[in-house]
Order: sequence, then structure tokens, then C-alpha cells
Amino acid sequence: MKELIVIGAGAAGMMAAAAASAAGVDTTLLEKNAKVGRKIGITGKGRCNLTNNCDSKTYIENVVTNPRFMYSAIRGLSPQDMMALVEAEGTPVKTERGGRVFPVSDRAFDVIDALLRHVKRSGAKILCDTPVKEVLAKNGYFEVVTEQGGLEARAVIIATGGLSYPTTGSTGDGHRMAKALELSVIEPRPALIPLTSGEKFCRDLMGLSLKNVRATLTVSGEEVYSDFGEMLFTHFGVSGPIVLSASSYLQSWLRRKKKSLPDAGAVLHIDLKASLSEEVLDQRLLRDLAKYSSRDFQNALADLLPRRLIPVVVKKTGVNPFKKAGEISREERRALLQTLKDFQVPISGTRPLEEAIITAGGVDVKEIVPGTMMVKKYPGLFMAGELLDVDALTGGFNLQSAFAMGKAAGEGAAAYLQN
Ligand SMILES: Cc1cc2nc3c(=O)[nH]c(=O)nc-3n(C[C@H](O)[C@H](O)[C@H](O)COP(=O)(O)OP(=O)(O)OC[C@H]3O[C@@H](n4cnc5c(N)ncnc54)[C@H](O)[C@@H]3O)c2cc1C
Repeated sequence: MKELIVIGAGAAGMMAAAAASAAGVDTTLLEKNAKVGRKIGITGKGRCNLTNNCDSKTYIENVVTNPRFMYSAIRGLSPQDMMALVEAEGTPVKTERGGRVFPVSDRAFDVIDALLRHVKRSGAKILCDTPVKEVLAKNGYFEVVTEQGGLEARAVIIATGGLSYPTTGSTGDGHRMAKALELSVIEPRPALIPLTSGEKFCRDLMGLSLKNVRATLTVSGEEVYSDFGEMLFTHFGVSGPIVLSASSYLQSWLRRKKKSLPDAGAVLHIDLKASLSEEVLDQRLLRDLAKYSSRDFQNALADLLPRRLIPVVVKKTGVNPFKKAGEISREERRALLQTLKDFQVPISGTRPLEEAIITAGGVDVKEIVPGTMMVKKYPGLFMAGELLDVDALTGGFNLQSAFAMGKAAGEGAAAYLQN
């Protein structure tokens, strides 16, 4: 019988295996892919934003679902601990805008190499090409059923990830294992995901990126998120940094209110001139309309807006595009101002889970002891990483969560086995 089996060699599983093995536990790490850490390889657009160089308060503020559950794990492994660990394994890191941490080489594979070295140095054994089918709870031990046969272990850590980008290996196996063990699993939903809209103008504006805008998402008339930054139009709707963050808060709201889209009525309100107050913008409109007074209305907005956006904005104002700019009435100018300050994109839904950066939902954290990651109903069974119902914003917070939960689970399993 083995002492500890860790299922899944991703961010959480590798940290778990290394922590347990370093504590003196005979540890075997099983991975279904031919190589470890496949998802890490695609993170941060291939550069791997492995953590965020922030304090634990800021980290917690960036966790959207179940931040309190993360208190003890983040105490056990801070972002700075993680940076030091990766550097100690030969991959220097750098901090960029917003505290985002990347390898100096800008190569995600150097982070995978560092983690692999960390696991190997701890003495844990790694078995790739070993998909686990199920975990059976026996009397005082577990049977891990792989395609190659059954393995017995005194303790097991499941770290199989979420459901997004399934080609990386995260296909929801852990959710199925948890359900078979009769654990509560919160319905997985896509988060950090582009939003869809039925509006044709999104397709017309495809590829147009807007900088320095404020986007505010309302659902059933209630504001769920507002931020200043960058976004873009796509063939299906909207995407970009502020939209991705908005999607996580949207999912959180829908779950809390037990509602779904499109029925709940979500609208993205874009302030196209976020740095100008209404008064200042109105003065600006007066100047531009006077400057181009002999031009058609639709040709008088070139100083104000990206070219492709003009026909869409003009249509939304309801003003005749061929009316001379000099003849625009006060009400018509007001309509233009309103459209610029509140350009509305009705939201019909999100892109599918497979395309999400993170899976919201997963094994209910109420099933888990936060300090050790042990499953309350099954002493000796542990869970860590995206498999659990924890998700955070972009900026390195999700990998940090997986690393911290993994280390806590590895140490928790070691403490359990050595007691
Ligand atoms: C495109 C993209 C970009 C991202 N960029 C960032 C970023 O820059 N920064 C950030 O913080 N987060 C980022 N994330 C999120 C981050 O990658 C995940 O939150 C993190 O990898 C979760 O770690 P994990 O160990 O829980 O799961 P995973 O990394 O998914 O690892 C799970 C492992 O378990 C294995 N496995 C699954 N089922 C079985 C089974 N039955 N038997 C054996 N093995 C199994 C899988 O093959 C996989 O190797 C990104 C995600 C995506 C999709």
C-alpha cells in the first residue's frame, strides 16, 4: 500500500506532492497527460502570470468566490513565498504592472520546469500517462482506480482542476469523483469569460478595442461591477480585461440570486468618455459641432470617436446623420452626450465553459477543512485547486490560489499520515 497518492500534476497537485514528500511522506503523483503542468504552459498568453506581488489583504480582495476559505492557505504560502520558491528552483521572476509576476524569460515553460524540479527534489514519484477513473473510500484507506489497474493508498489528494480548456487535461474528472463520493458540487460556470450580445453592432465593431473607458455591468437593474480600463468588441459580443472581471461578478450575482441569462436582463454600460465630466464633455461637443458646423452630423465626430464607432453612436442617438452639425439642437446634443456617457450593450450570456480562464463553482468548500484541505466526511482524503469552489480575478491570483491550496493539502496529508 502506498502512503499518499496525488491525482493531477497541475499547479495544485505539484505543490501538494512536493510539500508532502518534503515532509517525509512516500508520495506518488499521477497525471493523465504525457507531461505535467500542461495548463500552466498556456497561462498568461504563454508567459505565465504565476502570482501577484501583493499583500495577503489585496490577494483576498481579488478572490471573487469564497475568499474567507483562503485565509489559512494564503498564510501558509504568500505570493512572495511562491516567487522565492520559483527563483530557488532556477527561474528568476519579475513584477510587472498591477503586481503581475512573470518569469524573467517570459516563458511559461520555465515555471513548469521550476515546479517539476521542486517535485523531483522533494523525492516524490511522478507517473504520467496515468488517468485516474475513480477514488473509492475503503475502511481506513483508499483505492485509486487507474486505467492501468487499482492502487491502494492511506491518503489521497485530488487536484484535477476545473472544466475550462479541457484539452489541457482539466475535464471535470474530480467533480465526478466528488459526486461519486456524495460530496456537494456547486454547478460549474464559466468565469473570466467574454460576454455575448445579440446586438449586430458588436459584430460590426469586431476587433475595435477601447481604452480608458468605464464599463458598468447591471443585472435586473442592479449594479454588479464597475471598472475603468480596456475592452474590445468581438464577433459574438465583448471581451478584454474589464469584461472578463465583470463576468466573474456576473456569475457570482446570478448564483446568489438563483437567476440566469438572458432572463435576468444584463446590460454593459460603457462610458466612452470616462475622463470627462458631463459638463466638460458638453463643452467639448459644443466646440466640435461648431468647428464642423457645415458638415453632416455623422462627419462631425471624427475628433471625438474611433472612426468605426461613429455610425453606431449616431444610430443610437436617433439624430439624422445627414443633418448639418451646426443645426443640431440642444436635445440632440443631449442625446449624443447620453450615448457617449452610457453606450449600452445588452448581454445575452457568456461564452462556454471550455473557453473560460477559470471555472466558478466546483466542490463546495463547506466539505473541506480550510487549513488542511481535508474532506470532512473522509479523513485521509484531501482536495485542492480549481476543483474547489474558489475563483479569483486575473493578475496571478488563480495560480496563487492553486499553489497555496496545494501546499496546504500536502502538509495536511503529511500531518494526517504522521499522527
Ligand atoms: C487560457 C488560460 C490562461 C490562464 N492564465 C492564468 C494566469 O496567467 N495566471 C493565473 O493565475 N491563472 C491563470 N489561469 C488559471 C490557472 O491556469 C488555473 O487556475 C490553475 O492552473 C488551476 O490549477 P489546478 O492545479 O487546480 O488545475 P490544473 O492546472 O488544471 O491541473 C489539473 C491537472 O490534473 C490532471 N488531471 C485531470 N484529471 C485527471 C485524472 N482523471 N487523472 C490524472 N490526472 C488528471 C490534468 O491533466 C492537469 O494536469 C489561466 C487559465 C487559462 C485556461
